[in-house]
Amino acid sequence: MAKVIAVNAGSSSIKYKLFEMPEEKVLASGIVDRIGHEDGIFKFKGGKEDRKDVLPIPDHGAGVRLILEALSTSGVVSSLEEIECVGHRVVQGGKYFSKSAFFTKDTEEKIRELTPLDPLHAPAHLLGFHAFKDALPGAKAIAVFDTAFHQTMEEEDYLFPIPDEWTEKYDCRRYGAHGTSHQYLAEKAIRDYLPGLAHTRVITCHIGSGASLAAVRDGKCVATSMGLTPLGGVMMGTRSGDIDPSVLDYVSTCTGKDVHEIYEILNRKSGLLGVSAGLSNDTRDIEEAVQEGNPKAIRAANLFARRVADYIGQYFVRLGGADIIVFSAGIGENSDYFRRIILERVEEALGLDIDYGKNVSENRKEALLSRPGSRIKVAIIPTDEEVMIARDCLKALEGTL
Ligand code: ADP
Repeated sequence: MAKVIAVNAGSSSIKYKLFEMPEEKVLASGIVDRIGHEDGIFKFKGGKEDRKDVLPIPDHGAGVRLILEALSTSGVVSSLEEIECVGHRVVQGGKYFSKSAFFTKDTEEKIRELTPLDPLHAPAHLLGFHAFKDALPGAKAIAVFDTAFHQTMEEEDYLFPIPDEWTEKYDCRRYGAHGTSHQYLAEKAIRDYLPGLAHTRVITCHIGSGASLAAVRDGKCVATSMGLTPLGGVMMGTRSGDIDPSVLDYVSTCTGKDVHEIYEILNRKSGLLGVSAGLSNDTRDIEEAVQEGNPKAIRAANLFARRVADYIGQYFVRLGGADIIVFSAGIGENSDYFRRIILERVEEALGLDIDYGKNVSENRKEALLSRPGSRIKVAIIPTDEEVMIARDCLKALEGTL
């Protein structure tokens, strides 16, 4: 038995989950939020405790100390030395990482080198790594990359049709994201819903405020929708997804804004938020407004569904068919409305037979939504990126990483 902790360090937050492995039992979980603020937030659930404190949290180091102190005082661990491995989620692994890696000096340097591809997260991941390393010097540390699962893509799936120099010199290509989630979903779908099938074709739809799809053949990713960064692919809460790149030049001419400003707007003010004319990036608000007949909300929801449906169609072709389509993440797991309007756009072409009553009654649960006669199975599977990180921690401890 080993205790390992899965960590997701952002610029102002650290999410964490302590597991007992190999049982995959969650011993404690929570978040340190608003790091750098006087009114920082610390949430902890473990042992008999379930609490939320508001207090100054000056930096990541202070956040990590809060986590470790709570693990000790709650009795979840009797000594911090019991925590044998820290698994850090890292968004961008670029061309370097096709699987998880020990957090060595070399790994750190490569993550730093990749910062231009992920200026928001990369420095935060390194802050999180150092904070845990200082506090738990005896524990092993690994980096688990969001891009790693997608490294099996072939050239024609990851190259952009741009000048060769940009590809070769700047490594400008598709890397994708959410790989840990897509891998979890594909593995679970194959194991639980396609038993005994020699060859498998899975389309995974990780649709949350960030959204991406992947086409997975025999457990390996062949295509994914996000691009160089998470801005590419389907429409999202605040991100545009794929658009004609000439929008940049045209809007720049129209507004006088430079490329960076427009890039920010495509990341933070587009998607559901942009199309709904600023109403919301949250599907709960959009759904409510759709019920009230708000035309901008209806337009936003339909455009979102169209974009996801188009990718499902593309991946059906890419895989030469499909055995199962999986819905997951905030919207995929919780919104029967969005699942329905997506499925309605593909069901005829793909020969789906969906139980829409079940789509509503089984909302927020793991469930098979397709009827036995459906050409392709359709399921909701709640994702679990943390358990994938914990599984790799266990491999690191067993020497099989
Ligand atoms: P991320 O991890 O990318 O921040 P999540 O996967 O947690 O995002 O998804 C969050 C989004 O999921 C919310 O912005 C909202 O659009 C949607 N969502 C969450 N809960 C519900 C719900 N009960 N009904 C409809 N949509 C929901």
